[in-house]
Amino acid sequence: MNLRPYQQQAVNDIRQSLRTHKSVVFTIGCGAGKSIIAGAIAKSATDKGNRVLFLVHRAELCEQISDTFFGMCDVDDELCDIMMIQTARRRLSSISEPALIIVDEAHVFNKAYEKVFQYFPDSFKIGFTATPCRLNQGGLGNLFEDLLTSVSTRWLIDNKYLSEYRYYSFPLIDTSKLHTRAGEFVQEEVEKLLDNRAVFSGTVRQYQKITPGKKAMIYCGSIKASKEIVEEFNRNGITAAHVDGTMSKAERERIVSEYRQGKITVVSNVDLFGVGFDDKDIEVTILLRPTQSLALAVQQNMRCMRYKEGKTAIILDCCGNVVRHGLPDDNREWTLEPKAKQENTVKIRECPECFAVYPPTLDRCPYCGYAAVKEIQRKEKKTVEIDLVEVKRQKEIQDTKYSDLTAETWDDVERIRKTKKYKIQWAIRFADMHSIPVPHKYDYMRRFMR
Ligand SMILES: [Zn+2]
Repeated sequence: MNLRPYQQQAVNDIRQSLRTHKSVVFTIGCGAGKSIIAGAIAKSATDKGNRVLFLVHRAELCEQISDTFFGMCDVDDELCDIMMIQTARRRLSSISEPALIIVDEAHVFNKAYEKVFQYFPDSFKIGFTATPCRLNQGGLGNLFEDLLTSVSTRWLIDNKYLSEYRYYSFPLIDTSKLHTRAGEFVQEEVEKLLDNRAVFSGTVRQYQKITPGKKAMIYCGSIKASKEIVEEFNRNGITAAHVDGTMSKAERERIVSEYRQGKITVVSNVDLFGVGFDDKDIEVTILLRPTQSLALAVQQNMRCMRYKEGKTAIILDCCGNVVRHGLPDDNREWTLEPKAKQENTVKIRECPECFAVYPPTLDRCPYCGYAAVKEIQRKEKKTVEIDLVEVKRQKEIQDTKYSDLTAETWDDVERIRKTKKYKIQWAIRFADMHSIPVPHKYDYMRRFMR
């Protein structure tokens, strides 16, 4: 088992923390290999003859973690139990006392974890999560004494452990009137909002426009809408399938396998492929499940960011999650405090021209070059902190060789034209050369171009 340098660092940091604390929560981005780090720690515990209890909150994860722990990390299976938290809390008295308890995603079933932790006061506890907060945004101080953070999502992208991404926001539903119950949007209201033909056709239209033919995963707020959208995709000649928990295991496995092989292009679900479903060929995530949960939002929008050489992941946010939770690689301040400071207004800027979402530190859209409102620029000028990475991204578009420019629609041509600051005549000639239809409003101009 070979740990990446930052994973080895994680193991060392956790050990160091446990010299002075009984419990620690370790924060690391999605896709960084949490279970490998946990496996390395579990192995060194069982090597010393110590018992380990690993708790997860979904049945599929038991299998995955077992593969990682016993298959890859060589953890002693006689000394390590992998169990669902729901089971563990009911059978506390039958569990042999562990020296170490490891929990995955401690923000869900928070109260159940608390119960288990109290039952074993002498055990060391380690939590792993990308988002150490509960649904109501409070910290995990009720479970852990110490909080450690590791490499950021931005770092993982820059070091090719995750793919670079682009984020577009096309809200197809208006979530401003939704009510909240127990920290999350009221499910019945979400279902009603999504039950709308315009949502089904709008989703397919955006996909066709921005990511035609690319392998996509949809997260939808209702099973009914998910099925309708899938039908709409199929009607438009894109092979799509809906999956949910009520389907037989055989049926689900068939769809997953055909999706992995690329026979199915688009899969839609509510939350079946939340944690631990990895497929580096997924290039697009389509968000149609409005949520108040940062953890859920991050898990879903990063599904397409598994690293693959040359891939730029694309997130099509059709439900405004970016307004609530920001971009995948935003830097977040974590705390163990039960109630986080309520100053978490998300800072993003949306391009009125191409609907891309980008940090407000940029005064131009990094995708199409459209300049943001001058007034805002002036106001923020004093505090503008140039984000080098974003500038680099913009430069990449700028630096594409002329002969490498490709376009399939008039919108593509216009995007290139605006980024490169070419004249409209260039766009018309380029479109003609590539047999792309030019809007009729430019007919008069062509007469003078001959
Ligand atoms: Zn733009």
